[in-house]
Amino acid sequence: MTFDLVIKNGLVYTEQGFYKLNVAVKGEKIAALMAPDVPLEAIKEIDARGKHVLPGFIDPHCHLREPGLTQKEDYYTGTCAAAHSGITFVCPQPNVVPVPSTLEAYMEQVEAGKAKAIVDFNPIASPLGDTASVKAIADAGTLWFKIFEKVATYPYNTSAGTLDTHRIYEAFKDIAATGKYCSVHPFDKYFFDAAVERCKAQGLPVNLANVRHQWYSDEEMTGAAYQLSYYAKKAGMKWYAMHAWMPGYIDLVRMLKERGEMDIVSSFEYMPSIDASDEIYDKATGKYIYLNHDAAPDKEKIWQAVRDGVLDMIGSDHAPCRSDEYNPDDALHTSAGFAMLDYFGHLLVSHVNEGHYSLEKLVEVSSVNCAKTFGLYPRKGSNIVGTDADFTIIDMNDQWVISENDIVYTKTQSIPYVGRKMYGRVTQTVVRGRVVMSDGVVDCEPGYGKYITAGDCRQEALMA
Ligand SMILES: [Zn+2]
Repeated sequence: MTFDLVIKNGLVYTEQGFYKLNVAVKGEKIAALMAPDVPLEAIKEIDARGKHVLPGFIDPHCHLREPGLTQKEDYYTGTCAAAHSGITFVCPQPNVVPVPSTLEAYMEQVEAGKAKAIVDFNPIASPLGDTASVKAIADAGTLWFKIFEKVATYPYNTSAGTLDTHRIYEAFKDIAATGKYCSVHPFDKYFFDAAVERCKAQGLPVNLANVRHQWYSDEEMTGAAYQLSYYAKKAGMKWYAMHAWMPGYIDLVRMLKERGEMDIVSSFEYMPSIDASDEIYDKATGKYIYLNHDAAPDKEKIWQAVRDGVLDMIGSDHAPCRSDEYNPDDALHTSAGFAMLDYFGHLLVSHVNEGHYSLEKLVEVSSVNCAKTFGLYPRKGSNIVGTDADFTIIDMNDQWVISENDIVYTKTQSIPYVGRKMYGRVTQTVVRGRVVMSDGVVDCEPGYGKYITAGDCRQEALMA
């Protein structure tokens, strides 16, 4: 038998550990894992000698801005940036226009993805329509729901949010009836407003740097998270504790997991927490844009929580904006967030060599845990024979430095972390048997990416 693709001589992740194996792919599926000395024929070959072959990375948290905000990003450019760093599946968040809080709006986003994505995807819906809409969208297949809490002012200006706490609780009850998880960006805007007032009282300009330094970030986020966790438990809803990076919030997640009284899963988001770039390089203008995101989390505490399993996943929080949407001198009106996807996967790999977690833990937080939580496993998040041939191939020995001259695929053409030393690189991205990125070059036509739901994965498992 001639296979379509074989990945030779790599150290392949399996549930039993890493083994030197050849991976044979037929069509979109893993056909066989074989000892390296077994001869096999294939149309296409990748020599992965000295590299590791991981299940494809899944990003549970990115903003692809389509529909409605495609001046910032769209499904094609965003998923090319994802493929650039080894991500084979993305979960775009619901702050788009129209907000996917009705079935019609949700399906509009799905169709945009089907037309343009090059990696697989599942858009996360907003539950702030009505009860019938929540059920209809859940039935259609959103992996979970997401709410932005209390968002009347910066920094989370978004059409997908809510001001009313009771409305969140009602939505939680609707979601509980569907059996899905819901994530919330916990945010108590009164702390932000107070920081703005304190700047004014002290005669300081209301710019990003000053507001950040006046803001009780842990109290703001953790206080909101405690309240949300109570509503989730009371509603009987599975809670996805997202944005869990503040020390008190991490303690809360740890406590709730230990108590075992509710379904809870968690993630922290890379961009605003662990390695916040203080500025991004804008290729178009050749200028650096100051974007202080550092709300001073305890980074070692975050890594510890990853290592001991309190934090289950890491999202990129890729949130690109056009350079003219940034105005760091005006904290009330500037856009926030920046383009992460081109580097996110490489950074996840680099952190292994930097000693923050093991290679096995990388596979868990980048792929397995997300796939298992949201019903995609083992089709996604595994290297098991018969499942989708999604791979992130990495070179742990490649040291490099992010530079202004790097090729990036995000529409904004902006580069964070210029000058950062990297200890490892993603060298190939394979989505359902198709090599969509090799040695930094993304090559795939729009529309290759599939909309995949937990129902699709269940059905496939039954037929296998
Ligand atoms: Zn986000």
